[in-house]
Amino acid sequence: MKAEIFSIGTELLMGELTDTNAAWIAARLPALGIQLQWVSIIGDDLDMLANAFTQGMRRSDIIFTTGGLGPTQDDLTREGVAKALGETPTVQPEVVQELERYFQGRGASMPATNIKQAHLIPSAQFVRNRNGTAPGWWAERDGKIIVSMPGPPGEMHPIWEEEVEPRLRQIVKDEVTVTRNIKTMGLSEGAIDEIVSEYFGQENPYLGIYSKADGIHLRIIARARDTGTAQAMIAPVERGITDRLGPYIWGYDDETPEQALGQVLKQKGLTLATMESCTGGFLANTITEVPDSSSYYKGGVVAYSNEMHFASGVPPEIIESYGEVSQETANAMARAIRQRLGADFGIGITGATHPSPDESRPPGLAYLSIEGMGQLKEMELRVPPRRITIKRRVSNNALIELRKLITAGDGHRK
Ligand code: ATP
Repeated sequence: MKAEIFSIGTELLMGELTDTNAAWIAARLPALGIQLQWVSIIGDDLDMLANAFTQGMRRSDIIFTTGGLGPTQDDLTREGVAKALGETPTVQPEVVQELERYFQGRGASMPATNIKQAHLIPSAQFVRNRNGTAPGWWAERDGKIIVSMPGPPGEMHPIWEEEVEPRLRQIVKDEVTVTRNIKTMGLSEGAIDEIVSEYFGQENPYLGIYSKADGIHLRIIARARDTGTAQAMIAPVERGITDRLGPYIWGYDDETPEQALGQVLKQKGLTLATMESCTGGFLANTITEVPDSSSYYKGGVVAYSNEMHFASGVPPEIIESYGEVSQETANAMARAIRQRLGADFGIGITGATHPSPDESRPPGLAYLSIEGMGQLKEMELRVPPRRITIKRRVSNNALIELRKLITAGDGHRK
């Protein structure tokens, strides 16, 4: 089944909003056996939308749209579908009642404009939206399907998972594609390429290698008539890779470094404290992205001045002797914060985001220290000198290296 995605909204065309919806949907289609062939961004213009639907229905079997289902005059997705199909929307009284109840539940009366959201054409059915006022549309004509969903991801994702994907599973009979993503850190792309070279070059299952901010990822992709068969094709390749790269593997599929670390800290009942300079709080922010991180994260300090280093227990003589950006300072930061907060592990990060006057410290040079439970891990990193890249790479290294330190000797995890 051939598909396309329309991301609808002038905001997207103006660069004011980044289209994350298309990528989110695209990532879910291979496993359903749906082949995505086009992604388009279309503004809030009725003729352009109607033309896009007409063209899309010629070249694809199914079109997924997000955005433009709101109550205002520039929300024109429904009108675009209706125009392309030559049908006239009419008001559905039961949906008007539902909308009125929705607003009453929030202590308000329904604005007159919301009546737009109760319109339907004969070829379409409503798709339930539990999290907002705009129901989606599922339209079918001449063997072609248009699925329209609201733009806000918080509404679109549950609609997809609860309403759209189950229906797609029933109608798509094509081969499915299953992927398994293996995430590593500590070896270069070239080294990994050599170690697992025997698995490259096959078409099905296919093995790809990708360099990311959280290390090198290996992606195994298998196509088969059903998910079980595809998984069985992936299994021996995954085993071979895991056997060869075990200690360097820190996660699988959608897992993030902070989740992977959080899981082992929780499992082992260990706690963590951080002191960071060049990452400016990014490490603390990342750690606290994980629900229940308060059970293992005692907190952190953003030491952006000598005063803050000293106030947090870093001895002035260390900074005087070795400088702010040095392994010794990172070690002192990790030790000081671990001791101050009574944590099992301390992480210290220091680095340069801009060149030093004498150019002795290039931007992107950073030192990482992990200290605790009688262990010390020191690390010098050189990362591309973009602020956000430095923050992301150094923080990810800290999280993954701490996880590695804790799990060393445990064997690798599946
Ligand atoms: P609403 O009923 O909330 O108006 P809608 O279907 O009309 O929903 P839009 O008005 O087009 O959707 O967009 C509402 C918001 O949804 C946007 O401001 C943005 O936050 C989010 N959004 C829309 N399209 C996308 C997209 N392609 N990627 C990510 N977010 C999006």
